[in-house]
Amino acid sequence: MSDCLFCKIIAGEIPSNKIFEDEDVYAFHDIGAQAPHHFLVIPKQHIATINEADDAALIGKLTLTASKIAKEMGFAEEGYRVVMNCNEDGGQTVYHIHLHCLGGRALTWPPG
Ligand code: AMP
Ligand code: ZN
Repeated sequence: MSDCLFCKIIAGEIPSNKIFEDEDVYAFHDIGAQAPHHFLVIPKQHIATINEADDAALIGKLTLTASKIAKEMGFAEEGYRVVMNCNEDGGQTVYHIHLHCLGGRALTWPPG
């Protein structure tokens, strides 16, 4: 999608601190990290919100990619959180779905 920030990151039109990519997904560090480790995993296909998603394998791959990276970065055993915000009440600000993965500190619950 031409005016989507995360599509532009995937295309290399906007720089990002890339961690991983394959034919389906792209992972990169969040520019506004809320924890010592905070990265995003996104599908290469533009999907605005999780409400529009219908590919279970692709959505599952976002989570498994996050856990693989958390293990490789060495904070999986201590623990971490994966979360996807949806629409206004969910706090979504970028309308290309992205799984947040946060770790490296004790996270509080519930979120605000
Ligand atoms: P959300 O509020 O769930 O839509 O999350 C959007 C996330 O994208 C926020 O955590 C932002 O810090 C992050 N973000 C926005 N622009 C960029 C960018 N250019 N590079 C990396 N992360 C970004
Ligand atoms: Zn997009």
